[in-house]
Amino acid sequence: MAMRNNVTNVFVDLIMTEEGFDVTVVGSCMTDLVSQAPRLPKAGETIHGHKFFTGFGGKGANQCIQAAKLGAKTAMVAKVGKDFFGDSYIQNFKDNGVHTECVFQASDAATGAASIIVNDAGENAIVIVAGANMLLGTAELKVALPALRRTEVLLCQLEISPECTLQALRMARQHHVKTIFNPAPAVPDLDPDFYTLSDVFCCNESEAELLTGSPVATVEDAHRSSQELLRRGCGTVILTMGARGCVVLQAQGAALCHVQAPAVKAVDTTGAGDSFIGALAFYMAHHPALPLEEMARRANHVAAVSVQAVGAQASYPSRTDLPAELF
Ligand code: ADP
Repeated sequence: MAMRNNVTNVFVDLIMTEEGFDVTVVGSCMTDLVSQAPRLPKAGETIHGHKFFTGFGGKGANQCIQAAKLGAKTAMVAKVGKDFFGDSYIQNFKDNGVHTECVFQASDAATGAASIIVNDAGENAIVIVAGANMLLGTAELKVALPALRRTEVLLCQLEISPECTLQALRMARQHHVKTIFNPAPAVPDLDPDFYTLSDVFCCNESEAELLTGSPVATVEDAHRSSQELLRRGCGTVILTMGARGCVVLQAQGAALCHVQAPAVKAVDTTGAGDSFIGALAFYMAHHPALPLEEMARRANHVAAVSVQAVGAQASYPSRTDLPAELF
């Protein structure tokens, strides 16, 4: 086994000899540190909470784990710290069958963390420190190239450096790999190359609002926003709309398609969008001949299961939890 961070030819050869992947994610890993307390503390104040727990998060990792749970052969390209949380995260990937050869460990930054305080009214205060996520760059992508060019689908978001994300998308395009880009968390002035490098541009309502400057409250609004995003150069726009499912608009041909989500009783929608996107990547890799609307219908189903349980990755269904007609 080659050493992480020790970028040797041996390591590159080792990845080269492997067969390809269904889904490769270049993205973030975050450890959620959650404290539940009666109220949020004021500046300088110490209060007692009633519960503390940790969770595995980060949009990149969430999406990767959902794709893996559905049966995709997945690889994660990411950077964590050389610390307890980084070691735990790598073990979490392994436990879920995700290939971790390209999960690097930085000695000069901590694993990304989200410190979350939730009060009894369900309000929260969150501090995110991206840490090692921001150190993923050109050197690591070079090591990951053998995996990147032999994957069916590349999946990227915006929780690592935008330059690194763009570079990964460019590498995928160069090697004719299908790309899904999730512009989250959204930034108002997104580099125009993100659109042209996205085969599928998948965002939620608030991200679409920030990117287009127009509110998205109705399916008609979503249609207009999708047209605007499509105009910027992506192949397909999928705009997720919570309990209302999603809309799909393709550059080639067809009219807008509104794909309803199943009606379920939601208990926690944390990470629902990541479940949807991870599932979409699985379908694009495993059932490339399906119409995108059908992939979106199935991804809606997977994400609707996730909202019926608490947590992000912990709520994601596996293949065995789902009806056979979805596979
Ligand atoms: P995000 O988590 O990024 O805010 P959305 O809220 O749009 O994303 O949810 C993503 C997907 O999760 C939806 O397209 C849908 O498939 C599913 N989903 C979310 N909320 C619900 C819900 N209340 N009922 C059923 N499905 C849901």
